[in-house]
Amino acid sequence: MTRANPDQKVIYGTPVVEGIAYGPVAWTRRPPIPDLSAPDLPETARDEARQQFTAAADAVVEHLLERAAASDGHAAALLEVTASIASDPAWRKDALRRISRGTPPVQATMGATDQFVTQFERAGGILAERTTDLRDVRDRVIARLEGRPEPGIPHPEHPVVLFADDLTPADTAGLDPSMYLALVTELGGPTSHTSIIARQLGLPCIVAARRIDEVEEDTHVLIDGQRGTITLGVDEKTARKRLTVDRERRALIESWTPPARLKDGRDFELLANVRDGETAREARNAGAAGIGLLRTELCFLNAHAEPSVKKQRAIYEPALQAFADSKVIIRTLDAGSDKPVPYATLAEEANPALGVRGLRTSGHNPHLLLHQLDAIAEAATSCGHEKTLVMAPMISTLPEAEWFAGLVRERGMSPGIMVEVPSVAVLAEQFMDLVDFVSIGTNDLTQYTMAADRLSPDLAEYSDPWQPGALALINRTAEAGRATGTPVGVCGEAAADPLLACVLVGMGVTSLSVTPSALKAVGAQLSQVTLEECQHAARSVLGAWDQGDARYRARKELGI
Ligand code: PEP
Ligand code: MG
Repeated sequence: MTRANPDQKVIYGTPVVEGIAYGPVAWTRRPPIPDLSAPDLPETARDEARQQFTAAADAVVEHLLERAAASDGHAAALLEVTASIASDPAWRKDALRRISRGTPPVQATMGATDQFVTQFERAGGILAERTTDLRDVRDRVIARLEGRPEPGIPHPEHPVVLFADDLTPADTAGLDPSMYLALVTELGGPTSHTSIIARQLGLPCIVAARRIDEVEEDTHVLIDGQRGTITLGVDEKTARKRLTVDRERRALIESWTPPARLKDGRDFELLANVRDGETAREARNAGAAGIGLLRTELCFLNAHAEPSVKKQRAIYEPALQAFADSKVIIRTLDAGSDKPVPYATLAEEANPALGVRGLRTSGHNPHLLLHQLDAIAEAATSCGHEKTLVMAPMISTLPEAEWFAGLVRERGMSPGIMVEVPSVAVLAEQFMDLVDFVSIGTNDLTQYTMAADRLSPDLAEYSDPWQPGALALINRTAEAGRATGTPVGVCGEAAADPLLACVLVGMGVTSLSVTPSALKAVGAQLSQVTLEECQHAARSVLGAWDQGDARYRARKELGI
């Protein structure tokens, strides 16, 4: 056993992107919220105040668009979205109305933003995610009104570990990965914006690190993005050793090529999560053996009317063509909750994640499902694709599964269901009698097992698939798969965590489906372990006390 070094201090967070980094801390904090109570403006000052607000909002838009013009791809799109919020006529009108009634511009900006944040949060889904942009726009406009520079991340002269309470999309758009060694935030969850950006940039990342406010600017820290640790007081020599080992790990990932195979020579089915033909081609080029999840709802997030069968078919065909001879699992519309689809989602629900989403939308509109199944069947026929499988999201009862399976089989395809609701894991054998395969959606299975909103930045510790409760249900499903001879895949984010991927394999999961950018890391990790080692790790995590202990046990068994 290694003794804790008394000169070192360790702070724990939720690990999101693995990797080691060592360097000085640079902090970025959101500005303090100004006092909401302020004396009313005299009538004579209100016109000028309205002009000040409009000028500040215009300047924010202009600055964001300038940055968008100087960026490309994803970064430019993020900046344009934030600029569009600062130009939003309804938000501006609300603020101006407040100023006309005598509220000073800073307080009017805050009042209007709060009002919209509440509305967006109530609407849920993508709109709820926009609240970070809204607050960002508020802080930028207020900074302009107060004659301060707009908030943003520091532009360091040497590489730093960036610490933040939270990062906004505009903060991270265009972030130069050569100047940032790692990202660490106090808030945020595994699916937060910070995590997505860090994954794209390949920067080690830890979120929900509650005690980082004790760490001062310029302090040298060692970040371990796999363990979720921030260590203070590490000497240069030790840090250099850890960095060398990490470089070897990265080189192994870079050199990985398909097929996915364990160290003992066993082949393993490593598939990809995609959204359309383009991402399917990207997945094929990155080495996926097929598609484990085509999220069809992402094709229709802006559709106000149901697309025709012909139009839908034209969307599915390129994905099937990208994997002409391989397995493709198309998921029917998972509309609702975090992915509202205008033509399919109910307008007002108090708790959208527990509401009419996924297959449940068929209760109101069965024709949407029937048309979609027709379109998938037609696409498979026209492409001569013989390995098209179709699965339903948000199944929670046996009658639903039976009904869905019947509709898919009538159309000559193979039916499966997602395991996202705990009732399905609990009754897994009975569900498996009805369908040909299941795929575990660990994002929702964890959310519903832990009763923790997967989008909440305050609940990252709960929305963690390493939680023993979630692991027990995954294991239960895998055991049922073995007993009934039913293939059990995992297509939630858990499959993209290389350490957890080994545990899942050890539990008996038969395929993993991950975002294309994670294929190499998962493939490389699996190539380093045997099935027996994975099985030991799986057995060990099932006795874990909490998510940290589960990670520790897996690493110990696998020697990682
Ligand atoms: C899941 O819930 O894990 C899943 C894959 O579905 P989605 O993330 O699309 O809800
Ligand atoms: Mg889901």
